[in-house]
Amino acid sequence: MVQFANETVAPTRAARLVILDRDGVINHDSDQFIKSPEEWHPIPGSLEAIARLSHAGFRVAVCTNQSGIGRGLFDMATLNAIHNRMHRALALAGGRIDAVFFCPHTADARCECRKPQPAMLFEAGRRFGVDLAAVPCVGDSLRDLLAAEAAGARPILVLTGKGEKTLRDGGFPKATAIYPDLAFATSALLADDPAP
Ligand SMILES: [Mg+2]
Ligand SMILES: [Zn+2]
Repeated sequence: MVQFANETVAPTRAARLVILDRDGVINHDSDQFIKSPEEWHPIPGSLEAIARLSHAGFRVAVCTNQSGIGRGLFDMATLNAIHNRMHRALALAGGRIDAVFFCPHTADARCECRKPQPAMLFEAGRRFGVDLAAVPCVGDSLRDLLAAEAAGARPILVLTGKGEKTLRDGGFPKATAIYPDLAFATSALLADDPAP
């Protein structure tokens, strides 16, 4: 499933793309799920980081597991409201998320979209006409990193959200780059990614 902030995507030249997990990367995570717009609070520096990516010409896609829908904790209208809050907060920071891909299923559903499956990432790559090989995928959970690896993309672990636990538990792809948060990851990305 997919929500687009805007339907117009420049078709002429291959876009540069960054794929982000949502909870624990952009906003503070909660073990009780983010069930309402009021519970969505950005991690300091994350919106400004996305704005820097936008200004550098990156498309920014979010791929997020939202099993709270499958569990009946909140509905699609509420997810839309949460994402509207996110988009508005980002617009105020001068940034933009170009598309949100989400999996609404629980693990029991054995769908193909829930991370660590890579289907949402592939969908993002198709949507923006980008080969995932060089695409940074930023997440705080093992399943984000495994999905990145399965998609052939670049796994990046941030230590916000569940990131510290993920780092302690290990088992993530060897190629994983690790940064304190999205702001640091973005600085590193922009430092070694010269503008086209
Ligand atoms: Mg997360
Ligand atoms: Zn799914």
